[in-house]
Amino acid sequence: MIPVPGFEGRRVAVFGLGRSGLTAARALKAGGAQPILWDDSVSSRMQAEAEGFAVEDLTAADWSGFAALVLSPGAPLTHPKPHWTVDRAKAANVPVIGDIELFARALAALPEGRRPRVVAITGTNGKSTTTALIGWVLKQAGLTVHVGGNIGIGVLALPAPTPEAVYVIEVSSYQLDLTTSFAPDVAILTNISPDHLDRHGGMEGYVAAKARLFQALGPQAVPLIGIDEAEGQAIANALGERGVRVEAVRSLPSPLAGEGGPSGPDEGYAVAQETLPPAHPTHTEFHPSSVSLREPPSPARGEGTWAWPGLLHADGKAIDLAPARSLPGRHNAQNAAFAYAAARALGVPHDTAVQGLMTFPGLAHRMEEVARLGAVRFINDSKATNADAARQALSSYGRVFWIAGGRAKDGGIEDLTDLFPRVAHAYLIGEAAEDFARTLSSTPHTLCRDMATAVRQAAADAAEAAETEGPQVVLLSPACASFDQFPDFEARGEAFRAAVLNFGATPFVQG
Ligand code: ADP
Repeated sequence: MIPVPGFEGRRVAVFGLGRSGLTAARALKAGGAQPILWDDSVSSRMQAEAEGFAVEDLTAADWSGFAALVLSPGAPLTHPKPHWTVDRAKAANVPVIGDIELFARALAALPEGRRPRVVAITGTNGKSTTTALIGWVLKQAGLTVHVGGNIGIGVLALPAPTPEAVYVIEVSSYQLDLTTSFAPDVAILTNISPDHLDRHGGMEGYVAAKARLFQALGPQAVPLIGIDEAEGQAIANALGERGVRVEAVRSLPSPLAGEGGPSGPDEGYAVAQETLPPAHPTHTEFHPSSVSLREPPSPARGEGTWAWPGLLHADGKAIDLAPARSLPGRHNAQNAAFAYAAARALGVPHDTAVQGLMTFPGLAHRMEEVARLGAVRFINDSKATNADAARQALSSYGRVFWIAGGRAKDGGIEDLTDLFPRVAHAYLIGEAAEDFARTLSSTPHTLCRDMATAVRQAAADAAEAAETEGPQVVLLSPACASFDQFPDFEARGEAFRAAVLNFGATPFVQG
């Protein structure tokens, strides 16, 4: 646990007693504060009391006596409307903060030279993969690494800081909204597309929350920003205007596309990572025109690090990414570019960083190959809870038997129509099934309602196609939240896995 100093002897209100709230309370107590806990749920309050915490009804409390309100990221700060604790805190001039801010203050309280380093990762998609990948690469390099935050272990439950440690922290937009002084050494924004807009009052609020990752960067910090979207570019520009050196990561159309170049499903994109000079943050167009998948680029180009599926070019060396079995697809080339650049920023040698990318075991539910049956591969991408994430999965295969649906996000799958030619057949589940069927229109589809039916039909159709056309892919990439049929995306992915194995497929074991 990471004790949080700075509130010694003072009362700190903690609202929301989920995992992160209880952890924050423990960390505050360990730092000498008097946390006062509350939650709407009686069982959460009883659990807190059983642990020896002071539980007080915050609706009746004297708010002028609180040094801060530590708010759960699950409770709205601003939209759809501020949580009542936020109104009470504001009225009493009490700052509203979250667990990441407490973490930041705990590190800032350490003497300079004794502080661990911090890599923080945010973005709409790819946070968890990039976080886990960076953690893996740094561990392989022999560093003392603690991975947590919005993934796995809550940040304050990680081991106490030591000077040689590196914290690799995934941070959500809700958590960022509750920070003011968080200053990571490497700050990563993977990408931005509309998500959680209800909680941020629209796209502007969502982007502003993401930009808070860069609000307090120190002079030596390395911001790594995905600039495929105008919003990421704008954040990079704003930092550039402040004189900050930004490293940008961008997907580029390959000059090989449509010119007899590689014809795999991923052709046409590269990922470039390059340094935007301060004060000139506009991205310089970069076309790796002298390269091909067969002939790696010239090491002398000096254009930073760039990658596309199957190939990474970094530090003047070309590396074949194909053995990195857990990093398929263009989006994973983007994740790999961030991970490589982060590792290099922390001084990991080129070869070690590359070796780490190659051996990454992958994360469950993200383009995870769960099983094979004859020439049919079953891919679990249950984590694709929005259309943009599903786009990455669909783009990674030339032809798929696609299981989609659940509780749709705004716009459903309308943004994916350009990929429908890759869909051999769609199997629709959950609340969104009828809507998705309308959008799919003439693309072959079946309303299956539940996962078991979808898997059964998709597996049968794919097996039949495999007989005449060779290897096929059954892909669960729902482009929807799971809550209509499952407790969470993990349960949905496990339901897929179970249905696939029931069907007689052989579990895939990475070798
Ligand atoms: P997050 O933690 O941001 O939700 P994950 O790494 O868990 O991201 O991946 C979520 C989904 O997004 C998966 O379906 C995955 O295939 C897809 N994805 C992963 N990396 C990227 C990326 N760089 N860009 C777009 N989509 C991605």
